[in-house]
Amino acid sequence: MITIREAREALKLYFGYEQFRPMQEQIIADVLQRKDVVVLMPTGGGKSVCFQVPAVVMPGVCVVVSPLIALMKDQVEALLVNGIQAAYINSSQSAEQQYTIENECLAGKLKLLYVSPEKLLSSGFMSFLKRLNVSLFAVDEAHCISAWGHDFRPEYTQLKALKQQFPSVPVIALTATADKLTQKDIQEQLHLHNPNVFTASFDRPNINLMVKPGRDRFNRITDFLERRHKQPGIIYCLSRKATESLAQKLKSSGYSATYYHAGMSPNLRAKAQDDFLKDNVQIVCATIAFGMGIDKSNVRWVIHYNLPKNIEGYYQEIGRAGRDGAKSDALLFYSFADVMNMRNMLQDNQGKETQTELQLVKLERMQQFAEAAACRRRILLQYFGETMTNDCGNCDICRNPPTRFDGTLIAQKALSAIARTNEQVNLGLLVDVLRGARTSQVMQAGFDRVKTYGAGRDINTLDWHRYLHQLLNEGYMEMAYDQGYTLKLTEQSKQVLFEGRKVQLVKFDEIKQEESAVKARPKRELIKDALFESLRTLRKSLADEYGVPPYVIFTDTTLQEMAAERPTNKISMLAISGVGAQKFDRYGDTFISKIIDFINEEQAKGNKIKGATHLATLELLQSGLSIDEIAKLRNLNPVTVFSHLATLYEQGYPVKINAYVNKAEYSIISKAIEKLGPDAKLKDLFECLHEKYEYYKIRLSLSIYKKEHNL
Ligand code: ADP
Ligand code: MG
Repeated sequence: MITIREAREALKLYFGYEQFRPMQEQIIADVLQRKDVVVLMPTGGGKSVCFQVPAVVMPGVCVVVSPLIALMKDQVEALLVNGIQAAYINSSQSAEQQYTIENECLAGKLKLLYVSPEKLLSSGFMSFLKRLNVSLFAVDEAHCISAWGHDFRPEYTQLKALKQQFPSVPVIALTATADKLTQKDIQEQLHLHNPNVFTASFDRPNINLMVKPGRDRFNRITDFLERRHKQPGIIYCLSRKATESLAQKLKSSGYSATYYHAGMSPNLRAKAQDDFLKDNVQIVCATIAFGMGIDKSNVRWVIHYNLPKNIEGYYQEIGRAGRDGAKSDALLFYSFADVMNMRNMLQDNQGKETQTELQLVKLERMQQFAEAAACRRRILLQYFGETMTNDCGNCDICRNPPTRFDGTLIAQKALSAIARTNEQVNLGLLVDVLRGARTSQVMQAGFDRVKTYGAGRDINTLDWHRYLHQLLNEGYMEMAYDQGYTLKLTEQSKQVLFEGRKVQLVKFDEIKQEESAVKARPKRELIKDALFESLRTLRKSLADEYGVPPYVIFTDTTLQEMAAERPTNKISMLAISGVGAQKFDRYGDTFISKIIDFINEEQAKGNKIKGATHLATLELLQSGLSIDEIAKLRNLNPVTVFSHLATLYEQGYPVKINAYVNKAEYSIISKAIEKLGPDAKLKDLFECLHEKYEYYKIRLSLSIYKKEHNL
């Protein structure tokens, strides 16, 4: 029986992570007991680990069914870098390549084999699998099985063959789609035995949610990019043409940008995607065709140039940001004109009437989200049926809570203007009337003669739009979608006009928000940023050398932790989340040297920087000072200076440690270490040695011991 402890050790050894995320542990425990499970977790939630770790610790090979060739390739690359033997088989390979991999499987060399559903169901493949010791079947992107879902693949419905042919092999099905119908379909169609269903929260707390008015979008985008130097991101546009022209405009302004849409040749598309994955290009302007099947974990931001059609789409698209868990941004541009365009598009579509109706309702929910005056994350999660108990603190509304004021007079002006124009004006025209514009439409209708003409001159057009949206959202007026979007009075409007009902409106304070975002960063932060940048450059050059995307080497979160902790030896480097044994062997020393160089440079510049204080000691030592002199000069305790010496010795610097602890002493102290273990506390060793040896000797002996035993 394989224990969860072994699984945890594998997580550390191969993936470099200290702990499972909350649900991962329970899921893996079930899999290890050979139970079937269904996993519903958001994108970036960490689904892969749920089958990859069991695959590593269970005897035999785990067969992963995955619908997208690009995804398979990505995951196999990442596994290999982590030191796990894996391969994929699909129709893009020659018969010979496939044959080679099959042989590796038969020889028991692989822990994971990725296959496309077509391949799995092709003739002969099942009997091939019967010749292997299959430990587990993992069905990734399992929502593809459901005809109700958004990504139905007919081949997936044949996967029930797995349970029929291999009744005793456990199956784990994983998806980022949460709805009940899909979940039921997955269980039934795969013929799972009484599976446990694990549903994680769909919250993605690291994504900062922002909505901005859709005026002046290009300048707003370049402002946004100014503060996100070199950080990769996606801009979703509505049309193919828009992706091309925006990319061009960004390039002319000196940004590294490309575009992606379904109308390009497969070659160009693949190149755009590859350039983005490998951080060769910072920005992709794309239609929603982009993003399916890429696991790039360091997408730092997503911008929606236009309002998406529905919240499902919006959430999926922003979910491509920050899969590594590091801070990321989602910025949505919202204008009423966009809603109108989208509405027209939906209505023009010759779809079934009920479909159109549904789409319109979904669009309306999207619009309400964009116009919301309450925590945006609450609205999103509520939409997916999840209730949050607190505001999130990581959206524009939470960060800059709207203040309300008595807007009764504003409401009265607007409502009265609607009444006096006989409820025949739409939103744009109403604003024109209120602001006293002399447009031909106003003049022709004779609206310049109504009593409220020009009564709202003191409020600018944009603010009028905002106030009117609030009045709409809160039911003070209605929009007749079927009558040219004209505005109509409601019961509530009458209360405001005739019964003295008060109206509270929200004042949006945009300027404050921009200022807080550009607040100067403290020096400590700047140093961390600078180190992060230089580690990122190193990562990129290693990635190019190995021909893999940079995030496969280390994620942004891992680099950020390195930049904050500045590990300069093996032990502290291995303590960084995301640095496993295999990765340390490949890249550890390179990153350590980079960090040490950085610290030295900073110190040379006169910046006090903690982390490599032992290197300052080394310098003084090499200039011929004694331990006591160094301690005095640096205002440190001699024991601390000795511990620097120990660290230096462990890192392979030429320090003559035997000068402070001789052979005879070491042989006695090392016996105590043998007894209490190399991780024992100095104090315990001190006592074990009957307080006969000074602390510094014990500390130095520990270093010698570790080196001798390759620890
Ligand atoms: P999903 O398939 O659910 O979208 P992934 O499996 O690709 O998500 O994981 C997303 C990110 O989270 C990856 O960078 C992965 O390495 C990281 N991750 C997964 N499990 C853990 C963990 N226990 N601790 C830290 N990071 C983790
Ligand atoms: Mg996944």
